[in-house]
Amino acid sequence: MNKYFFTEEHELFRQSLRAFLDKEVRPNIEQWEADGQIPRAIFKRFGEMGFMGVTYPEKYGGMGLDTFFAVVYTEEMIRMNSSGFNTSIGAHAGLALAHMNAEGTEAQKQKYLTAGLKGELIGCLAITEPSGGSDVASISTKAVRDGDYLVINGAKTFISNGVLSDYIVAAVRTGGPGAKGISMVIIDRDTPGVSATALKKMGWHASDTGEIAFDNVRIPVENILGDENKGFFYIMQHFASERLAMALIGVAQSQLALDLAVDYMAEREVFGRPINKFQVLRHRVAQLSSETMCARAFVYSLYRQYSQGDYIIKEAAMAKLVATQLSDKVCYECMRFFGGYGYMESYPMARLLRDSQLGTIGGGTSEVLCEIISKMTIDAKSYKAAVPH
Ligand SMILES: Cc1cc2nc3c(=O)[nH]c(=O)nc-3n(C[C@H](O)[C@H](O)[C@H](O)COP(=O)(O)OP(=O)(O)OC[C@H]3O[C@@H](n4cnc5c(N)ncnc54)[C@H](O)[C@@H]3O)c2cc1C
Repeated sequence: MNKYFFTEEHELFRQSLRAFLDKEVRPNIEQWEADGQIPRAIFKRFGEMGFMGVTYPEKYGGMGLDTFFAVVYTEEMIRMNSSGFNTSIGAHAGLALAHMNAEGTEAQKQKYLTAGLKGELIGCLAITEPSGGSDVASISTKAVRDGDYLVINGAKTFISNGVLSDYIVAAVRTGGPGAKGISMVIIDRDTPGVSATALKKMGWHASDTGEIAFDNVRIPVENILGDENKGFFYIMQHFASERLAMALIGVAQSQLALDLAVDYMAEREVFGRPINKFQVLRHRVAQLSSETMCARAFVYSLYRQYSQGDYIIKEAAMAKLVATQLSDKVCYECMRFFGGYGYMESYPMARLLRDSQLGTIGGGTSEVLCEIISKMTIDAKSYKAAVPH
């Protein structure tokens, strides 16, 4: 299937990225998982190598490459078997910088996007609040106008890079209730009144996840990102690409689990023969591989549509729904092929299974995705892009 989506250039890029990751990332993963974060130096290395901004405009230091280079990038990042590492880079490059690139003014891009693509200034995207993440239209962090400033009070939680980032791209309420009263703003970390606490969690151990509090935080009105009160629509628009990326991650995790399991099953002997000779296990691998291949074909085809400008809000929700659930299933089944070793931290499956579980929660839970899909398939609801992507 790959030859229908990837050119020779994509494959060359894959080789060079894989070599870089194997040399500079893989040997450090255990340490970063133990540290609960990745060092700033690796952000800089990604910047120096150009890997921070594969599809971003060259004008700001990106590589300006097509969407399938980003697909290759994600697949290779997942092969490191540390969603925490992938998320640390991704929450900055794929979330905060995506808003900066799409909605930022030239001055904002010169300041945050250029330094961000060099890995010198790290961002996070803060939407979720302690009172709830699914109902984005109800966020309550308030930004009140005071002359040329906004005064912000409220809190955000579960924010990836929430403690270590240099600035926060936050959704705040600048207007009335509901979807039409939300704006995106940039809050520099060192602004008085910003504080953050690290959260302990089940997986994604190499990623710093934080709760952020805003106590009378004053930011200039120039820090509004895009049009005032249009934040909800920007968020929904970015969800399409974020959900597609999470679907791709689900497929890549499933493939990694299968690759690791197939290798292990060839080596492990029980009852005098390798376990890959037991028909019941062979059929399970066949079933899981088939489902992974189907999900991959769907996700690749959506990337093709997305790269041609289609607004694939429903399809991205469908892909994330199916691929993240599939990943949980495949990682669980493959962990079991390892027997007791599957449960050991010194083998790769425990982390893979643990990390996979966030797929059905972050970026819209499976239930929230089903709500969107039902509205669009049963009630014939449609959504328009806030800005062309
Ligand atoms: C490790 C980690 C990293 C994260 N990183 C970020 C980040 O960088 N930035 C950010 O903004 N957020 C981040 N999140 C937050 C994540 O997006 C939210 O957790 C998610 O959107 C769900 O929100 P919630 O946790 O408040 O659950 P709730 O909204 O309280 O939902 C609770 C349950 O109710 C269900 N539910 C909700 N609405 C409906 C409905 N209409 N019908 C049926 N069931 C429903 C949900 O599916 C869920 O099962 C992160 C979360 C985690 C765990």
